[in-house]
Amino acid sequence: MIEYENLHNLNKSLFEEYKTAFNEVLESGWYILGNKVKEFEKQFATYCNTKHCVGVANGLDALNLSLRAFNFEKGSEVIVPSNTYIATILSIVENGLQPILVEPDLATYNINPKLIEQAITPKTKAIMVVHLYGKVCEMDAILSIAKKHNLKVIEDCAQSHGAKFKGQLSGSFGDFAAHSFYPTKNLGALGDAGLLQQMMKRLLIK
Ligand SMILES: *Cc1c(COP(=O)(O)O)cnc(C)c1O
Repeated sequence: MIEYENLHNLNKSLFEEYKTAFNEVLESGWYILGNKVKEFEKQFATYCNTKHCVGVANGLDALNLSLRAFNFEKGSEVIVPSNTYIATILSIVENGLQPILVEPDLATYNINPKLIEQAITPKTKAIMVVHLYGKVCEMDAILSIAKKHNLKVIEDCAQSHGAKFKGQLSGSFGDFAAHSFYPTKNLGALGDAGLLQQMMKRLLIK
């Protein structure tokens, strides 16, 4: 039998480093937020080439907060891939908004940009793209649709830390990007963790 995602084995080679880090936190007496989180926010922002990153409890909270920040009218529509993880949809529903499911491109399993425009109605406010399985969506096509219809773009980067499209990092295309550090993700924490990244100016792919 091959065990599925044995995190003990996965993390084993780093146990000594983790123990040193745990001890630092234990000795510091500061167990929520504090300098360690601030340091990570800064390092991750530098890595993402962005100005602002804010650590949050998990990826769902990051998605939730990005939608809450826009304060869209209740019942507004958000376009989202039909084959995403449930948290993406939950963040839309929890904000009183309507998820509009768009099918993926079978060659990439990411949202099919060719099917987005026909899903847009006068109620559409945003496209929530999800870069599944470490593969970034076709952001040039998606950004040009968003621009044409004046829609916000939120990136669900729970599965795409460090992944690039045409040389540009995932998370740097939209108005907001939500990251998850759930233990099994590409960048996994030892517990629940997430982060919200805000773009100050949109970096359009040339
Ligand atoms: C894991 C995941 C989330 C939610 O992240 P949590 O940290 O578990 O809340 C959201 N979207 C996608 C695509 C995910 O894979």
